[in-house]
Amino acid sequence: MTYKITNKCISCDLCLPVCPTGAITVIDGQRLINSSVCNGCTDTIYTVPQCVAGCPSCDGCVKDHKDYWECWFDTYKKCVSKLNNNNDNYWERWFNCYSQKYSEQLEKKRQQVA
Ligand code: SF4
Ligand code: SF4
Repeated sequence: MTYKITNKCISCDLCLPVCPTGAITVIDGQRLINSSVCNGCTDTIYTVPQCVAGCPSCDGCVKDHKDYWECWFDTYKKCVSKLNNNNDNYWERWFNCYSQKYSEQLEKKRQQVA
């Protein structure tokens, strides 16, 4: 399984030095993974693809799916596991963030009226 760089890439270049096969290059300002060189970090000391592990963007480095349904199920499983992960506290974080922003907006309005 090879990996590819998507349009979520923020060009931080963190993935370049960590790739054990040297598969990532910059061509005309774009970061690209050479699929004939990328080995998915298998047969290396790493247990996870290094470009994915260190990428600070959201889905900057992803699996390069050749099959539409394989991609669809992978995304589906990722979303479901995120929602089911109790340690993640997604909804709690969402609610805290939402209520904080909402309170800030209310306070601003109150000050404008006063
Ligand atoms: S680590 Fe991610 S965001 Fe940074 S250059 Fe690589 S793909 Fe782009
Ligand atoms: S999966 Fe591994 S070998 Fe492939 S580009 Fe990413 S870091 Fe390099």
